[in-house]
Amino acid sequence: MDDKQRSKIDSRSFINMQQTCILQYTKINENATFSTLNFSTFNYLIMEYRNIGKTGMSASIIGLGTEHLDGKPYTIMEETIHAALEHHINIIDLFMPGDEVRQNIGKALGKRRKDVIIQGHIGSVDLREQYDVSRDLSVCKRYFEKLLDTLGTDYIDVGMLFFMDSDEAFEQIYSNGIVDYVLELKRKGIIRAIGTSSHNPKVARKVLETGIVDLIMFSINPAFDMTPAETDVLSTFEELSRQQYVTIDPIRADLYKYCEQQGIAITVMKTLGGGRLLSAEHSPFQKGMTVTQCIHYALTRPGVVSTMIGCQSAKQIEEAVRYLQATDTQKDYMDIVSKYQGDFKGKCVYCNHCQPCPANIDIAMVNKYLDIALLDADHVPPSIIQHYKSLSSGGSDCIACGSCEEKCPFSVSVIENMKKAAELFK
Ligand code: SF4
Ligand code: SF4
Repeated sequence: MDDKQRSKIDSRSFINMQQTCILQYTKINENATFSTLNFSTFNYLIMEYRNIGKTGMSASIIGLGTEHLDGKPYTIMEETIHAALEHHINIIDLFMPGDEVRQNIGKALGKRRKDVIIQGHIGSVDLREQYDVSRDLSVCKRYFEKLLDTLGTDYIDVGMLFFMDSDEAFEQIYSNGIVDYVLELKRKGIIRAIGTSSHNPKVARKVLETGIVDLIMFSINPAFDMTPAETDVLSTFEELSRQQYVTIDPIRADLYKYCEQQGIAITVMKTLGGGRLLSAEHSPFQKGMTVTQCIHYALTRPGVVSTMIGCQSAKQIEEAVRYLQATDTQKDYMDIVSKYQGDFKGKCVYCNHCQPCPANIDIAMVNKYLDIALLDADHVPPSIIQHYKSLSSGGSDCIACGSCEEKCPFSVSVIENMKKAAELFK
């Protein structure tokens, strides 16, 4: 059974469970009606899955980052991983190089290893007893073989070219034979897809343009997005001044659009900015965001399929999956970025503040597909045309009532965009 089939079955069994539950609830609460029932009453959260490009795999929109489990007792590891599985999280990032953490994750997954997509990193090592990167082929091979062994598996779903943050790293993966090694792993079926991880949009773009990559794990949150592409977000995040936060960096925005255009999936790291975005004291916006707002921001970027949330307890997993039952108001992150609206002028941030539309147009989605198509209007990828055409209403349905433009905080010329979309996708 492939992941797509599995996700369908999972969704169906959830729906059956919900129906059973509604019947039981109605029996014990005679006054209850369907309209008064809220699925949150039953704590049922229906996971959403998005396709990982052309790989045939689909990932849950909430994924699990396991970094914070490193060094934790096995009981905590088991509790967290089992909670993730219970909530139908099916993608796990595992970059840590240590034997113990890998063994414990393999043990906690047990027979359910086949139910998850594992991102396993090639080049992540601990030669000096700390997290490190190696571009030495024999070292990379040794650590990857150990990954299979310690996890107790014979395949990794996505073999990730680790930490591609510099031009030097890009040159080394070619000159040292690491790309050839990864391609060979894929040919042999030891990895099902090739991925990469990066915090640098320029280097990331170079790796993606090689055409060998199906997935990229990239650091996305509003603070990083408003940081110039040339800034090293990892080393300067703490010192970044508020003044730098003026608009979404165009190189970052283009990277996401390029991914969607090319069918490359983005999984997101640093969704919560290492937790700093959650606290008014530490956030560069001087206002704390909620986990739900951070997740929603990432999931509304083009190309994003999953947010890898670093959790170290069942409680944190539950907090993350609460996103699935959040209202539009709870997801809304506009109060964080709206003060910069002068700088975002005319650029759609896909926030949906312009709804409702009397023509039932999903304006944010039409704008998103239009933005991607305009990257290369003469060669719009068939997948983008197909996504656009699968919308229930498109640009040609716009009646130019103007209600969206009155509501848009960023003065986007929606009517003009609808006309452009209708023309481009006709
Ligand atoms: S048109 Fe404006 S309100 Fe609508 S999604 Fe784009 S930025 Fe948000
Ligand atoms: S102008 Fe067009 S897109 Fe905007 S709300 Fe009216 S019908 Fe919808």
